Amino acid sequence: MKILISAGPTREYIDPVRFISNPSTGKMGYLIAEECLKKGHSVVIVSGPTHLKPPDNARLLSVETADEMRKGILNQFPKADALIMTAAVSDWRPAKQYPGKLKRKEAWSLKLVPNPDILKAAGRIKRKNQIVIGFALETSDIIKNAVKKLKEKNLDLIVADTTEFFKDKNSKVAFILKDGRVEEYSRLNKKQTAVKTVKLLEKLK
Ligand code: C5P
Repeated sequence: MKILISAGPTREYIDPVRFISNPSTGKMGYLIAEECLKKGHSVVIVSGPTHLKPPDNARLLSVETADEMRKGILNQFPKADALIMTAAVSDWRPAKQYPGKLKRKEAWSLKLVPNPDILKAAGRIKRKNQIVIGFALETSDIIKNAVKKLKEKNLDLIVADTTEFFKDKNSKVAFILKDGRVEEYSRLNKKQTAVKTVKLLEKLK
């Protein structure tokens, strides 16, 4: 299979030197990429900024903003058999990006506007033979919230995890399939999660 994987955070710039982002390291996506390569698939990673070395045989497209990630993913998606969206895409970006560095000033408010949902766009345009997999980090009602996202984004599989993965600790992880099947684990690390995700993808294909 040709597998397209998104990884890492995005950066949403306020001015040329400041941005809003999140603590995603990209590790989940890079581990999935390694596992896919090990199984003989070809891999394109669209990655936000990380300190990780990409696997030798993966093609890497580096991006910074959600808009750049959207363009990269939607450009590659028609050529892919599967999309695995592990990236922690910023849900909002500043309504305005200031062209020059802002000067220090008293308290002020920053207006944020929503970023487009990349995964939802892919779910909307996917062909019958394409598989689309999402990741959902949840802080409550893990299964219920993830099922809602699976349906809204027209996914084949959603992998729900908790903020423990931000600390690279073991997390409760649930794999929820389109047909209603749920595999739930109380403690998995990222590597185990990557292996199980790729196994399920291969079964779906
Ligand atoms: O943010 P949310 O919990 O909805 O993320 C669930 C999935 O949607 C993840 O796979 C994430 O990569 C994807 N997503 C996206 N574009 C966004 C927000 C999230 O593709 N703007």
